[in-house]
Amino acid sequence: MSLEADNDRLRARLADFVQEATRNEAILKRLHGFELKLLACRGLAELLELLLQAAPQELQVDAVSLSLFDPEGVLRELLAGHADSVAERSPNLRFVDDAANLHALSGGPGAAQTGPLTPSCAPLFSETGLRSAARLNLERHGVLIGSLHIASRDPRRFTADMATDYVERLAAIIAVCLDNAVQHEQLRRLSLIDVLTKAHNRRSFDRELERELNRACRERSTLSCLMLDLDHFKSVNDLHGHQTGDRALRVLAHAIRQELRQTDLLARYGGEEFAVLLPNTDPVSAFHIAERIRRRTAATPIYLDKGSLMMTISVGLASWHPDEATSILPPQLPHKLLDAADKALYQAKALGRDRVCSQPPAGEQLSPV
Ligand code: GH3
Ligand code: MG
Ligand code: MG
Repeated sequence: MSLEADNDRLRARLADFVQEATRNEAILKRLHGFELKLLACRGLAELLELLLQAAPQELQVDAVSLSLFDPEGVLRELLAGHADSVAERSPNLRFVDDAANLHALSGGPGAAQTGPLTPSCAPLFSETGLRSAARLNLERHGVLIGSLHIASRDPRRFTADMATDYVERLAAIIAVCLDNAVQHEQLRRLSLIDVLTKAHNRRSFDRELERELNRACRERSTLSCLMLDLDHFKSVNDLHGHQTGDRALRVLAHAIRQELRQTDLLARYGGEEFAVLLPNTDPVSAFHIAERIRRRTAATPIYLDKGSLMMTISVGLASWHPDEATSILPPQLPHKLLDAADKALYQAKALGRDRVCSQPPAGEQLSPV
């Protein structure tokens, strides 16, 4: 071979190397940018949104599918609170209850695997025509917590012989971010939610009350508030034991929630006392909702080892609507609204329990203060 031909060959190889290095640099840059976005996520919903919605473009692939190990439904519960949750919208997100199924999805050992899309992986994607894929195992402290599959219509995008260190690093970062987000979300929920009934706690209610009153003020809408107290609850504990009392609180909190809309808020305000916020609800509608709650409570059996027991609830209702002159939230209004609902509740108790009373009577609204 002549020297010139040899040079040409070397030049062509060099050009190939440079082209590949440039391409790799672009991939690295893109991955790095995506990793920074993952690390900047502030919550589980935001993280899932990024992984499922933005990742295809960020990683320049055609589809992304995420499977998360969720044997006790904790993740689903954490996400349920988010209106229009990504978990409900994305067909490529699945929660795996069974460890054996998760291991089957992970496709064996190794943090990552690349190659043609296998028939067992194809159903993970709602997209069709995918030809090659990378499987990333998401592990935390040596435990598999999920797997991410990314796929392309290009059969050469992921080949069996390609280096997997980039995607392995990405898998490690995603696993840490997911784990952190779940823990953060759980802590946040623990600080806002009553563990026994899963209703909001008093602190959360007080915060939401202030927020909803401000919204009512801004949007010139009516906010109604219910205070509810189970009747003769002490005798349930005395006759059937504390555990039955606890179960009654759980069952009835669930029953009350069935009568509420997504935008309403149920809180456990004290031992056997609940509070409900009904945004954008006039006193007449609020009275109907309170009546429905009262009737459902009276019709919900608390099952015992033998037989069941029935309970009743008393409800106090108060509403507020800003008048023409109100442009900022009057001071003490949260306190006054709760006080009015509380007075109505005591009236309901005094009149014989198992009833709804309003303050002022249904049809009128608490005059703006
Ligand atoms: P009333 O109709 O006047 O409301 O009577 P009551 O018996 O419901 O009211 P009272 O305030 O006398 O008793 C409330 C009881 O609720 C007393 C308390 O032991 C019980 N309680 C409070 N928190 C819990 C709880 O978390 N679990 C259980 N099992 N009982 C609780
Ligand atoms: Mg009571
Ligand atoms: Mg009470």
